[in-house]
Amino acid sequence: MLDFFQNTALFAVLLFLNSSSSETENFEYCVYDDEVFQQNCHPDPNFTYSTDPEYLDSFPEIKIRVHLWGFNQDDGSSEDKLTEDKIHESLKLLNSAFKNMKVCFELDGFDLINDSELYWTNYYKFGNKIRSGDFTRDNALNIYIPYKFTNNNDKLRGGKMSNNRMTVNMLNYNTGILVHEVGHIFGLMHTHSGYTSQHCERVTRDENDPNYNAKCAGDRVTDTNAMPKLYGKFHKINENCEYIGDATDCEGTPYTLEKSDIQNFMAYTQHSCRAVFTTGQKIRAREYIANQKPLQEMIMK
Ligand SMILES: [Zn+2]
Repeated sequence: MLDFFQNTALFAVLLFLNSSSSETENFEYCVYDDEVFQQNCHPDPNFTYSTDPEYLDSFPEIKIRVHLWGFNQDDGSSEDKLTEDKIHESLKLLNSAFKNMKVCFELDGFDLINDSELYWTNYYKFGNKIRSGDFTRDNALNIYIPYKFTNNNDKLRGGKMSNNRMTVNMLNYNTGILVHEVGHIFGLMHTHSGYTSQHCERVTRDENDPNYNAKCAGDRVTDTNAMPKLYGKFHKINENCEYIGDATDCEGTPYTLEKSDIQNFMAYTQHSCRAVFTTGQKIRAREYIANQKPLQEMIMK
C-alpha cells in the first residue's frame, strides 16, 4: 500500500513535515500522478536506462517555449505580484538547472489574469478552471503561478497538471520546486517512488543480484539510489546535505544514500539542498521528451 491518496484518487499526494525550523510546521505537497508499480521487472523499451555521459552528449541542445501566467485579484491587486523581474528569475533558474540536460527555456510570453478565484483557490478547482478557460498556449510549456493554493492550510506548493501545464505558488517561482515540477513534465518520477510498497526499489546496484530492480521500481533511474521520502526526517540530513540516518528498504537493507541523492531535485528533501539531476535522470528525461509529441511541440525549431 502506498499512500492514502494514491490508492483512492490515483494521485501521489505526498505530505511532509519540515523540521528544519523546529517551531514552525512547514508542509509541502507536490501533486503527481505516479505510475503503477510492477511486480515483475520488465524494463520499458522506450528507455535505455543509460548513465553514460557520452550518450547524453549525443543529444542536441533543445529550446523549450515557455508561457507564464500570473494571477491577481479581481481589482488587479496582489500580495505578491508576478513581475517581469520575477519571470526572468524563473527562466534563469530553469536555464541553470537544465543546462547539463542540454535543455534551455525561452519565454514565449506571459499573461497576468485578474481573477480572485484563480489567485487563491483549491488546487483542483484551479486546474478545472484553467482547463475550461482560455488559459493555455499550445506549443508551449504553460507555467501557472497563482498566489497560493488553499489545500493543506495553503501549503500546497505545486504540481504537474498535464503534459504541457504545471503550476507552482508564488512562494516557489524561483525555488527547486519550480525545477522539480518541470522534472515531472519531462517524465521524471520522485526518487522515493513506491518506497513503502512491497515492490520497493531495492538498494542493490549489482545487476546479477536477484533483488536488483532499479529499472522497474522507484524512479526507474539506476544512478539515483533507492531512498525514502525524507520530509519529516530532516534531522537525518546534516548541514552539508549528507544523509546520517539508518533507515532500510522494504527488505531491511540499509539505504546507501549519497550526497547527490539528498541534493536531488526529484527527492522529497531539505528545500535548500535541491541542486542535482543525475546523468541517468538527464538521459531518461531526454528520451522521454523525444517520445512525447506534446513535448516535441514545445521545442523551438
Ligand atoms: Zn513531485
